[in-house]
Amino acid sequence: MECTICGMEIDDIEESIEQGWTPYFYEGELEHGPVCPGCSGILLNKAEDGEMELKQEYLGKILYLEGYLEEPSEDEILISIAIENTMQSILN
Ligand SMILES: [Zn+2]
Repeated sequence: MECTICGMEIDDIEESIEQGWTPYFYEGELEHGPVCPGCSGILLNKAEDGEMELKQEYLGKILYLEGYLEEPSEDEILISIAIENTMQSILN
């Protein structure tokens, strides 16, 4: 998969989780992703509902490499699930 903001690529899902890739985030109602740790560290906030969201000051200013209507790839879905499982095991 590829960072939707800077285009950095990573192939290994486990590696991407270790590095702290974000599978998706919200800009208003729109969902984007995945995002590399470099971009997410600068651009993303954790919202009150626990979802990652674009910081206020960047709203409408990011040019994404993806198409808005693109369905999440299988990789992205797997990563979402893996990260959710990791979060669950941390919380429990
Ligand atoms: Zn990036």
